[in-house]
Amino acid sequence: MKKIIYADNAATTSLNEKAYESMKQFLENEYGNPSQPYSFSTVSKNALKTSRKIIADCINAEPDEIYFTSGGTESDNWAIKGIAFANKKGTEIITSKIEHHAVLKSCNFVESQGYKVKLVDVSSNGTVDSEKLEKILSNKTDIVSIMYANNEIGTIEPIHSLASIAHNYNTIFHTDAVQAVGHVPIDVKDLDVDLLSASAHKFGGPKGIGFLYIKRNIEIQPFLNGGSQENNHRAGTENVASIVGMATALKESCNQINKHSFLLNARELLIKELIQNGLSYGVDFICNGNNNCFLPGLVSVSFKNKNGEQLMHRLDLRGIIVSTGAACDSINTEISHVLKAIKIPKYFAEGTIRISLNKNNSIDDIKLIALELSKIVLNI
Ligand code: PLP
Repeated sequence: MKKIIYADNAATTSLNEKAYESMKQFLENEYGNPSQPYSFSTVSKNALKTSRKIIADCINAEPDEIYFTSGGTESDNWAIKGIAFANKKGTEIITSKIEHHAVLKSCNFVESQGYKVKLVDVSSNGTVDSEKLEKILSNKTDIVSIMYANNEIGTIEPIHSLASIAHNYNTIFHTDAVQAVGHVPIDVKDLDVDLLSASAHKFGGPKGIGFLYIKRNIEIQPFLNGGSQENNHRAGTENVASIVGMATALKESCNQINKHSFLLNARELLIKELIQNGLSYGVDFICNGNNNCFLPGLVSVSFKNKNGEQLMHRLDLRGIIVSTGAACDSINTEISHVLKAIKIPKYFAEGTIRISLNKNNSIDDIKLIALELSKIVLNI
């Protein structure tokens, strides 16, 4: 295979080696159904228990607060629908304009069932304004759902203060932390969130597995009905191998947080390199999101009067893999809802690409990406 620079880790990551090793025995010999009482199932039953504890420890939760799901999309769907349909307070939901479609479309569905959905605005760097949230909250609001970190522009939201505002109204607070878990320290007790979504393939785990943190005593409707798995809340035989792989990958990822300083400086470095290669900041290109509070390694960069898709394909021809925005939306060539919400001018928005690096990348990768990008931009 030709050597590539993979810089689309916000879309998905490669499987961590230790995670892969930890999964093998459950794909080969230890295939017992963890719900069965006989001794052959003991190893898989114990593996679930250990994995739940490892995951809980990584986010300072209790093991019985971790519910395994099929990934971020399911966790988000369950959080929104499960709280709304538990119907404890009213018929109102609040979310932001820059959420992932897993949240926005779950809200649309709940809206079609008679609920009212309110969208809170964000500032030009993608930060949800606490005062604006407070203005639209009411005693009828069942749930506020605000993402921990945006998947297109990397802005990290002030989750602790947003959650405490929601709690002033006795409203449940959910955060979609799919892009953040394993990349920044997460402590659900400090954050004071009630629900938190995560997905393994964003932090070196396998695809198709994730979890939803549900704080003890939060009333939520079960997501799947059937067997008694996941405390009667999510029926279906557990994907033991993937759950074990997810726990191993999360532990590995959490051990690496803040250990790769080039990820914290990726924005600065990319900007510096683009300038050195002949482009001018603010004239030829801009970086989107909050420069003070962003996901390590994620850089959203917009080039004036260019086409993001064309840039992405030209980089691809040079062996550099980036995306034009949200991975799940690569078929949709319109300006994304996130770029619209932060109101960047159309002539910049259309030329946007997302570079997302992780510990498998290096400073040299950033330099090479900047060099190739500059050559492409100056020649089209
Ligand atoms: N939420 C966010 C913020 C995401 O970035 C993604 C995936 O890109 C999801 C949810 C969906 O996660 P999954 O691919 O595990 O369904």
